[in-house]
Amino acid sequence: LGDTRPPSWLKGRVASNQNASEVHGMLDELSLNTVCSGAHCPNMGECYASRTATFMILGSQCTRQCRFCAVQKGPVQPVDAGEPERVAHMVKRLGLQYTVITSVTRDDLPDGGAGHFARTIEAIRRIAPGTLIEVLIPDLQGNEASLDTVIAARPEVINHNVETVPALYSEVRPQANYQRSLAVLDYVKRQAPHIKTKSGIMVGLGETPAQVAAVLADLRSIGCDFLTVGQYLAPSAQHIAIKEYVAPEQFVHYRELAESFGFLHAASGPLVRSSYRAADGFFQKERL
Ligand code: SF4
Ligand code: SF4
Repeated sequence: LGDTRPPSWLKGRVASNQNASEVHGMLDELSLNTVCSGAHCPNMGECYASRTATFMILGSQCTRQCRFCAVQKGPVQPVDAGEPERVAHMVKRLGLQYTVITSVTRDDLPDGGAGHFARTIEAIRRIAPGTLIEVLIPDLQGNEASLDTVIAARPEVINHNVETVPALYSEVRPQANYQRSLAVLDYVKRQAPHIKTKSGIMVGLGETPAQVAAVLADLRSIGCDFLTVGQYLAPSAQHIAIKEYVAPEQFVHYRELAESFGFLHAASGPLVRSSYRAADGFFQKERL
């Protein structure tokens, strides 16, 4: 293998500022988790500095063992009934026009946590009316009743990441299933065409451009509206290794390909994450 150091285009952009300290302080005060911190996101400095964060509800411990993910695995915590309102209060205090809510996967709960998602959406509607809401949901084991619960709460966007190409699922997402993830997005779009659907993948795990193109085609075939493509970065030596630092030009190619396939918006770049500047993508689409 050659030089395995990260290339220059993967350096984080903004360190920290007063806004970031305020975000950290509010998260502590309200006992809230973010995926920004849980997943060691390289954009945390930039996002917190611009007073945005992606809230991670339903605890900080996940019931699955995806080999790319830094979120802690282990015994799950009881569902915190006060969490939806605390999230909503933080959304209000940050004055967010657009917020993204995600969760760990809770395969231990009968509804996978769908009710807690719905209660969080309802609390934001009540306490911070006018804020647009994107939920980045787990696959909820493909349970249609659970998906109905989330759909009925009427978020603006339902996001579910396919994460990688199907050939790499057993290695990267052993407890997930590509067809089930597609079925989740397909079900949402068929039940609620007014809700925008969104998905994303990481690249640099050994996938080929042709396999990525096939995933994009699959997502468009089920009406997926928004797409994100970003470089996988191994959180530690215990996580699955990076196979390749994908060149910036290749990300441009994926974005152009996605646009040619008809996605309303595609964000593709080394540091793009599922929730990176999510509002920009949504509002850009609104201007089209
Ligand atoms: Fe958080 Fe998303 Fe920003 Fe990363 S890109 S810091 S997960 S809001
Ligand atoms: Fe991480 Fe989500 Fe996998 Fe849990 S299900 S390990 S939070 S990617």
